[in-house]
Amino acid sequence: MQIKNALRKSLSVSGIKIDSDFEKNQWLKSEELVRIQRTLVRKLVEEACANVPFWGRTFRDLGLRPSDIKCVSDLEKLPVTSKAMMRGKAEFRSNIIKSMQPFMLHTGGSTGQVFRYYTTGLSRSALDACRIRAWRWAGYKDKDRIATFTGGGLGSSKRKFALDCVGMNEDTMDEYIQLIKKYKIDILRGIPSGLMTFARHVEKRGIDLRKKCVLTTSETLLPEHRKFIGEVLGEVFDGYGANDGGSSAFECSEHNGWHISVDKSVFEVLDRNCEHAAPGEEGILTVTCLYNYGMPWIRYMSNDLAVLTDEKCACGRGLPLMSKIKGRTTDLIVTRNTTMNGTELANHVIGMKLPIKAFQFIQTATERVTMRVAREPGWADSDEGKLINMLHQYDPDLDIRFEYPDDIPTTPAGKSEYVVNMMD
Ligand SMILES: [Zn+2]
Repeated sequence: MQIKNALRKSLSVSGIKIDSDFEKNQWLKSEELVRIQRTLVRKLVEEACANVPFWGRTFRDLGLRPSDIKCVSDLEKLPVTSKAMMRGKAEFRSNIIKSMQPFMLHTGGSTGQVFRYYTTGLSRSALDACRIRAWRWAGYKDKDRIATFTGGGLGSSKRKFALDCVGMNEDTMDEYIQLIKKYKIDILRGIPSGLMTFARHVEKRGIDLRKKCVLTTSETLLPEHRKFIGEVLGEVFDGYGANDGGSSAFECSEHNGWHISVDKSVFEVLDRNCEHAAPGEEGILTVTCLYNYGMPWIRYMSNDLAVLTDEKCACGRGLPLMSKIKGRTTDLIVTRNTTMNGTELANHVIGMKLPIKAFQFIQTATERVTMRVAREPGWADSDEGKLINMLHQYDPDLDIRFEYPDDIPTTPAGKSEYVVNMMD
């Protein structure tokens, strides 16, 4: 259902056959994809420089003209950007955004602060087309029904098939099993930690609920989760989306890594000095969205660590591969009893409205977490007990220790790291 709507949208933007163009692009040779990407980069830079105050000023300050960005590697001449830089700043929006079917989206994300941003009809359609193209790699057909396990930032436009996995218990999971059967769901989708909890329950019930495929996203997929979800619910196809950055990458049936949607975005991997890391080397993933002229995302630094590779995939697609995406493993606390998602935990703590300036969970052993709390006036000793009770709802065996620093530094991208996993 939600897919059909997305397709209808994608086929109706300014007469551009986005869906069919993207379908063809995947089989192009890499040189042809580089040409497409180069054309899109030039257009993006021209639009940004002409209509977006921040980029117009940045080009002037650097003594650059749009024509100085001739190819993808010329993007290096421009500064990296981040959510911290862009938050609440109108100068990152185009002066003519109203003519671009704009709509506002927001993320709560790992900073705990709402980040509002704009996308356009064109950019959203291109993103949907990339997603649907990749779902077809997993066997998706246009009439398939997808149930999405939401939570941890992943939403679903069709509430009927949106299964909230925050705070799922045995009763809700039994209900979900019935819904999946009743509506003859073909495909399951969602965040790995939620799907993992559900898969454990399905196995316990001894029911065969295997589907055509399982589409995971929004969180690092741990190998053991892929294996278990694959056995109980169906073959897992993982996707990576920096959706605010308008960029994505997905696995094909070869599972050789994630094919980057280079006809929609540029992926760069940078080292700590903001230089390009060599293929095979890990660095910070930085994305450029090639279709959002309303609020251009140029060299937008994510909080994720990635590795790009020159290796070709056996499937024959020309879309290059990202061989590793990490970063959000640090966003999970994995114990013997459960998996806790950092964003979900953060939302839980924020919702408790305790006098806390900043906080961080550090997993140091399988059953041990240190919670670092920068306190505000009004903190009472009993607040520690409230946090322990909250964490014991997730895992009653968890050993919780506390540290009280004055403040907790953010990452270079300006994000709060709510979970640091020392178990990696
Ligand atoms: Zn492939």
